[in-house]
Amino acid sequence: MLKHGNLEYEIIIGCEIHCQLLTKTKAFCSCENRYGGIPNTRVCPSCLGLPGALPRVSKEYVEFGIKAGCALGCRINNFSKFDRKHYFYPDLVKGYQITQFYTPLCEEGEVEINLAAQNEEPKFKKVRIERIHLEEDVGKSLHIEGSHSYIDFNRSGVPLIEIVSKPDMSTPDEAARYMQTIREILKFVGVTDGNMEEGALRCDANINLKIIDNGVEFRTPISEIKNMNSFKAVKDACTYEVSRQLEEYTSENRIAFKSGFKRTMGWDEPSGQTVIQRTKTIAEDYRFMPEPDLRALELSDEFIKRVSDSVGELPEAKRLRFKKEYHLSEFDVQTLTSERELAEWFEEAAKKSSSPKKCANWILAEVLAVLNETNSSLSDLKFGPCAIAELVNVIEEGKITSKQAKDVFAEMIALGKKPSAIIAEKGMEQVSDSSFIEKIVEEVFAENTEAVQDWKNGKTNVAGWLMGQVMKKSGGKANPKQAAELVNKRLAQ
Ligand SMILES: [Zn+2]
Repeated sequence: MLKHGNLEYEIIIGCEIHCQLLTKTKAFCSCENRYGGIPNTRVCPSCLGLPGALPRVSKEYVEFGIKAGCALGCRINNFSKFDRKHYFYPDLVKGYQITQFYTPLCEEGEVEINLAAQNEEPKFKKVRIERIHLEEDVGKSLHIEGSHSYIDFNRSGVPLIEIVSKPDMSTPDEAARYMQTIREILKFVGVTDGNMEEGALRCDANINLKIIDNGVEFRTPISEIKNMNSFKAVKDACTYEVSRQLEEYTSENRIAFKSGFKRTMGWDEPSGQTVIQRTKTIAEDYRFMPEPDLRALELSDEFIKRVSDSVGELPEAKRLRFKKEYHLSEFDVQTLTSERELAEWFEEAAKKSSSPKKCANWILAEVLAVLNETNSSLSDLKFGPCAIAELVNVIEEGKITSKQAKDVFAEMIALGKKPSAIIAEKGMEQVSDSSFIEKIVEEVFAENTEAVQDWKNGKTNVAGWLMGQVMKKSGGKANPKQAAELVNKRLAQ
């Protein structure tokens, strides 16, 4: 229980997340499903809602819905169907939206959200998911200031899923982390690009308070904060709404709330305030009715199994396994599993290398730095993960020094050549011929009798200095491991 003056209270938050899917076509027609483009160029009679045009469910849409459901721990229903949700809005041409109101595709899931600070050992909390249903997106209104309003129907009919959580979150931070977790998982399994600036993931938060006032329980009316497209907005809007609801409760002119009273709010980022859009005392009547133009989805167990088998390992499972199999730290695994492509790239290198941990270090420190600097992705690199494994292996074998490895890496980035080719070309290959190194060791000892005497008098750091002399004399070519061994052997004589 939290405290506010004499009051004790709890925060109750549930989220509805709309997520655009990365299918090739729109949900119910064969128009291309892609963000942006010249307005009204990706449209057809069906997604323009012209009379007589009939919708057809995309199979890929259903598959992506199942994948999302599996990734979020849901039961996939063999039977689900589509309904019409009626309301008027200029960008909703048909006058209704196709959704799944009565029987959704997925139900009763859950996700674990991590409440720990970054790089700390995870601290999980379970958030239950009530349902995931299929729903089409609507068009977009563009308001040009002082001029006209335009409507772009490229987004009309874009496939969405709506993920409805139970009211299991009890702080604004938890709500933001929930959204973050949903995005991470759905991106990881490849059903969305999760691009929030383009509106691929939008969150509505339902928030109210349970207040204990002198032993009497009271619930504030629910505020539904619509259409937030950043984690920060979710956190800030919920934080603002908590204090607003507390203030409203304690203020003198508190209105008597009827049961069912609900507010729809927007989050105004510039002013940092939630703004009331409308209030209602009864649930809005959307006149839901079964969609007569679409058959119900009757999915066989085999079909559901085949799709769910393609989901693959989820980020949290991958993190646990990476820690165990490759002995990596929490920090390493968090970064390496932030994107599926990166996780798979690392693992391919790790499997071919004698030191997975060093592969992780190279990828995290060097490879990612280059990608950041050049604003590029792994697929833009001129070499693959095997080249990093090879580089790590030659360092481990003592064939090149880590200083030389940086030069090799720079060549790999520029030209995409294999490490072995670069080493041969530059004549970097270490000399491991012990008689050659022994000869140099002898010379160094003969030239530095004083230093050798210092070592005998207990100045142990002289050994390292002598080793440096050997490396210098060999032109950096002596195998450092062998050189160190021979110096120590000579000193012990
Ligand atoms: Zn279309």
